[in-house]
Amino acid sequence: MTNLFKELNLSDRLVQGLKKEGIIEPTDIQAKVIPLGLENKDIVGQSETGSGKTLAFLLPIMQNIDLSKRETQCIILSPTHELAIQINNQIRLLSKNSGLEVTSTAIIGTASVKRQVESLKSKPHIVVGSTGRIFELIKNRKLKAHTVRTIVLDEGDRLLDEKNIKSVKDVIKTTLKDQRQMMLFSATVNDHTLKVAQELMKDPEIIRVNEEDVVNPNIEHMYIQVEHREKFETLRKLVAATKPKRSIVFINKSEEIDLTTTKLRHHKLKTEAIYGASTKEERKNAMDKIKGGQIQILVSSDLSSRGLNIEGVSHIFNLDLPPTSKEYIHRVGRTARGKCSGTAISIITSKDLPVIRSYEKELNIKIKEKVLSHGKLLDK
Ligand code: AMP
Repeated sequence: MTNLFKELNLSDRLVQGLKKEGIIEPTDIQAKVIPLGLENKDIVGQSETGSGKTLAFLLPIMQNIDLSKRETQCIILSPTHELAIQINNQIRLLSKNSGLEVTSTAIIGTASVKRQVESLKSKPHIVVGSTGRIFELIKNRKLKAHTVRTIVLDEGDRLLDEKNIKSVKDVIKTTLKDQRQMMLFSATVNDHTLKVAQELMKDPEIIRVNEEDVVNPNIEHMYIQVEHREKFETLRKLVAATKPKRSIVFINKSEEIDLTTTKLRHHKLKTEAIYGASTKEERKNAMDKIKGGQIQILVSSDLSSRGLNIEGVSHIFNLDLPPTSKEYIHRVGRTARGKCSGTAISIITSKDLPVIRSYEKELNIKIKEKVLSHGKLLDK
């Protein structure tokens, strides 16, 4: 495997730009995707959470943008607003650090259309955002899709699920088939996603890194078994025992997110909540605070499980188990980003034990049983 970006035919400017971020060696997925991306190949890429998939697609896209043309050349679709903003920030940082004047804008559903229409007037090279709003703007001729040459489906399995596929296809159809390159990325690409992707793409290259171990190996998995009524108290004690600087607590039901947040605050723990029904401002406020280190705990629904890269999240707590092993991968993947390690602890009752066993088997991981004793987390 190559150990330098230069050898992947990346331009000096981008290589120097990455250096300013302290990024020197490509990750496995980057080493495999970048050369194919530069050749305009269609790509389906799967690799573990936190393995650098964003730069794997952004780098060839940025290099291939024709800077002499002021037109939108790439659309990146993302299932959540926060992820779209994160990708947009990454483009801006790289364009600043490399001196490549690639322009971009984030188009997300809940933000003001007026401002978005305004930002599209300058014809940004890259538009990143949510499918519904992007389609609306194309339909209203505020965004010209015929100049688009690359479409990325980030967290592509989510974008091609039953709920989202129609609107994704609507966007794809507005672009010209002959000139369009498509790329899809996720930590979880199952046969169904692959089949749908292959129908939409032109003979895509399928890149899977560490196919056997889809879960980031730098995450330690644990569970604690308690009675249902002891769950909250166990969470509180776990926070006291592990002292995470930043952590995410996942809960399945929205009403319990509020309740748990209130209780954690009652114990003087700095906490914010984020879930689908939150307003745009609430979501932004919560994200800013966890990133900025003003809060220690973000309580969330699965809204935050995809793609988010919050530096320094050391612990994931599942107060409820996720509904599927796939969702388990995405939730715990909010820790151990890049070269960091992390811990995921599920607080379960006896009836969840078979689910823990099945996730261990499906994901080829060990989830160790732990107990809390005198404020310490110990092996059972
Ligand atoms: P991603 O999986 O794309 O969200 O990236 C996870 C984290 O790894 C981000 O903080 C990236 O900035 C960082 N990262 C991506 N590629 C590299 C690399 N080649 N070397 C070091 N860090 C990287």
